[in-house]
Amino acid sequence: MMRLYLLILLSFLACSSEAGPTDPDKLAYFRETYEESRSDFRKECELRSTAGANLTTLPVASQSDSDLTIDLCYLPATDHQDRILIITSGVHGIEGLAGSTIQRFFMAQLLPGNLSRTGILLIHSVNPFGFRNERRVTENNVDLNRNFATSPALFSTRNEGYADINEFLNPEERVSTSTLADWSFGIRALLNIARHSMQTLRRAALQGQYDHPRGVFFGGSTFEPQKAILEPVLRKFTANATSVMLIDLHTGYGTRGKMHLRNAHPDQSQLKAIETVYSGFQIDYGAQNNFYAPTGEFVVYVGQLLKPGVTYVPMLFEFGTLDSQTMTGSIASIHNMILENAGFHHNYAHEGDRINVKRRFREHFYPESAIWRTSLLTSCEEILPRIIDRFNSLETGERP
Ligand SMILES: [Zn+2]
Repeated sequence: MMRLYLLILLSFLACSSEAGPTDPDKLAYFRETYEESRSDFRKECELRSTAGANLTTLPVASQSDSDLTIDLCYLPATDHQDRILIITSGVHGIEGLAGSTIQRFFMAQLLPGNLSRTGILLIHSVNPFGFRNERRVTENNVDLNRNFATSPALFSTRNEGYADINEFLNPEERVSTSTLADWSFGIRALLNIARHSMQTLRRAALQGQYDHPRGVFFGGSTFEPQKAILEPVLRKFTANATSVMLIDLHTGYGTRGKMHLRNAHPDQSQLKAIETVYSGFQIDYGAQNNFYAPTGEFVVYVGQLLKPGVTYVPMLFEFGTLDSQTMTGSIASIHNMILENAGFHHNYAHEGDRINVKRRFREHFYPESAIWRTSLLTSCEEILPRIIDRFNSLETGERP
């Protein structure tokens, strides 16, 4: 048994090799900061003002920063406002680096020629604090994708398994990244897996929790300001639509260099439209894969705002970085989350540890690899035009 653990640890520490093409034209869209990403998003939108594109900047209140904004770029349909496609980035702040790149690439390269009945709304940087500070969570340590709901009953949700592993997930000490600390983490992770099973561990951790405000995957004790900012926007732009397609952009989960299409809450009324629009693409449904069922997800919440009878096609796009579906990838992934969170709340043993943890965390959600970056946009090029085309010709109910 010990030999197996050692083998797993060795492969966990080994670098994975990566192969694939690189494309300088695609790499040119990648930016390294929130400021550059936002500024170029605004420019791309303004470039399309002759086609009716409209830029709106919404400030997000903060105790530490007076320049945090959510930016909207709306491209109206030219004929009737029958359908709308919404693409969101940065619900998990740091993942906005990749999400913003996709949004700008989409505007520059993938806009459908025929926008007669489908309007497009791009929502840039839902969590600008996390985006700017390279955290997944908000200023209040809240995982925004566990914080959206129509009722505050969300905050009474209990995650039974979380308390059992709280100590493992949220060490209350200064963070060290010495080889010894890394090894000791690996061993504790394996002991926890042996005691609780990988599945229990994954579910307890990723489902979201509402009891440990400084812990990882905290969904909040009240709504973050984003709900009050975005709810009127979402209601306004979907008011006359008979069909709404939402794509929420994420990175970090799944096979490295592969786009995972995820819908953890498949609703029977949505399934038919999802299967039609995404026909030929593999979809990760929660129920089928015994996948964790998170609460407070943005895509679920948006569906709850729509009028009855509206066809809703929600999807999370998750571009993999660490092979988190494997045990070694999963351990590396949770390790990064734990270190970054503990470092934020309890500081670091040395400055070198802080640099190390922040570098690993950024690499987890926004790898530097030119191969990874190229394949991110190649996947979008393959998927987006096809699903938008199908969404355009989707048969739906009468216009309201
Ligand atoms: Zn995410």
